[in-house]
Amino acid sequence: MPVYEYIAENPEKSCRICRKGFELMRPMDREPLLECLYCKNPIRKKMPLISTPRVSSLSNAKDKGFTILKRRDKGVYEKL
Ligand SMILES: [Zn+2]
Repeated sequence: MPVYEYIAENPEKSCRICRKGFELMRPMDREPLLECLYCKNPIRKKMPLISTPRVSSLSNAKDKGFTILKRRDKGVYEKL
């Protein structure tokens, strides 16, 4: 069964469960949940994270001015 992550549409109006977001196992054939099970305020499905952490940390490092060195061979580094 897929696990979906839901989060409050209006965090300031919602309960502390959905304000922080929660995960819910839900069969594929069921329609998506539109309101919090606890406070009945609107919630939305969080998009699954597609980006790979390695790529984002690489670009973060570049943003911070680091020089990225890629290991080419044993003990040999190439400046990218
Ligand atoms: Zn709630």
